[in-house]
Amino acid sequence: MQQFSMYINGANSAGQKSIDVINPATGAAFAQVQCGDSSDVDRAVAAARAAFPAWAATPWAERKAAVQKLAGLLEANMAELMQLVTLETGKPLGGLAQIGSGMELGGAIGWTQYTAELELPVEVAQDDEQALIEIHRKPLGVVGSITPWNWPLMIAIWHVIPALLTGNTVVIKPSPYTPTSTLRFVELAGSVLPAGVMNAVVGEGDVGAAMVNHADINKIVFTGSTPTGKKIMQGAADNLKRLTLELGGNDAGIILPGTDIERIADEIFAACFHNNGQTCAALKRLYVHSSQYEEMGQLLAERAKAVVVGDGLDESTQLGPIQNAAQLRIVEELADSAKADGGRFLAGGQRLPGEGYFFAPTIVADLTDGSRLVDEEPFGPIVPLIKYDDIEDVLRRANDNDRGLGGSVWGNDVAAAAALAMRLESGTAWVNTHGSIQPNAPFGGVKQSGVGVEFGAHGLAEYTSIQTLKIAR
Ligand code: NAD
Repeated sequence: MQQFSMYINGANSAGQKSIDVINPATGAAFAQVQCGDSSDVDRAVAAARAAFPAWAATPWAERKAAVQKLAGLLEANMAELMQLVTLETGKPLGGLAQIGSGMELGGAIGWTQYTAELELPVEVAQDDEQALIEIHRKPLGVVGSITPWNWPLMIAIWHVIPALLTGNTVVIKPSPYTPTSTLRFVELAGSVLPAGVMNAVVGEGDVGAAMVNHADINKIVFTGSTPTGKKIMQGAADNLKRLTLELGGNDAGIILPGTDIERIADEIFAACFHNNGQTCAALKRLYVHSSQYEEMGQLLAERAKAVVVGDGLDESTQLGPIQNAAQLRIVEELADSAKADGGRFLAGGQRLPGEGYFFAPTIVADLTDGSRLVDEEPFGPIVPLIKYDDIEDVLRRANDNDRGLGGSVWGNDVAAAAALAMRLESGTAWVNTHGSIQPNAPFGGVKQSGVGVEFGAHGLAEYTSIQTLKIAR
């Protein structure tokens, strides 16, 4: 069995106990990880704090060069890291629409390379006979990163790379379900970064809470569920930590009447089911006009029945298992509630045989707003198809949700689709696509889907504070 440890002050570090990491395709442990408590958080934060002044004073060009080396390390170790991501998450190496571990590593490399090229130049607000006023960006100090289990390595990269480039030091805590790819990356990064610049601790919510409450952490960047995000906001109040919160979504997709649905069916299916729906910005509520409702249902059901579900290490697999047993139970519960609400199951509806956490890709028709499956984020391979007749009514229903991460409108008339998409209450509005994120486009949630954005110069700026310099003349 593979062994992993925490990483503190430039060295591997044991914890108080070790935990098993389960391969969700088999239900059996494939690795053991050293797991810490608040005393390990204290040690990691002390190391990051001690490393901060020198790292913050390191010229930007040198930090950029270090980040470029990290991209090279990800590339050089891609096969090993892909294998770990598949073992810990269950997602296929390739996967539906090629959205699997290969994409997770490709994304991690691409985001690192792109972010390395970003800059936050000094802005001049005034330069005249009265004064010179410059706006400088300064690192915050120690950044605490807390990550979820669905895209563990890519999300870790989204957090740590902009933090490091802007001169912060980092303590990262991966999800205890999926710590191995992050720990291996942090260990590899130790050959590039000075001791203490990046540290990793492992543990459950109490270890995350110890970071959130730590007086010497200046910012928390968190990706995970909305309930945990609320606890983090409360805990961060003591020393007014800066926050970036990327939280849950319940993204609506609206297909306008007359859309060529045969042409978009593959993309809609992938937007809903890639990574088994375990993506924050997966399409989770699909609104279809009554004139095309049955036909769209058939197109999606055919795909749900044909998609290959299995062990992610098998190259023919398109969808793996659900990542953990607790999430599988949530999906089973939502399927039961959909049955009780009169949902018509066009495909799936039940667990698949075997020890792994497999659930059949499921399409449910005839539900409407007010059903749990429509109102709540399922985060699994189950999608409700909701009928509508009136555009203003469907827009109101799409917006009638406390989440606001993404949303999409699909139609032949692109201008009409874009005009409607801009009226969605969401951080991102997509037209004729859904969930496609990229490193140059800011991404974040409104309403209870989050605070702040990631990616691009806007995302980079969130790892800095402004210092205004005024020189009187
Ligand atoms: P989660 O909130 O249960 O856990 C996320 C992380 O927080 C884990 O590392 C966990 O150990 C830690 N944690 C738990 N309790 C804590 C506490 N009290 N204080 C500090 N840390 C604590 O989320 P999850 O189940 O791992 O992830 C799934 C959720 O993440 C979904 O809702 C999904 O939509 C969301 N998500 C959002 C984005 C985005 O960019 N908006 C991306 C991916 C996932």
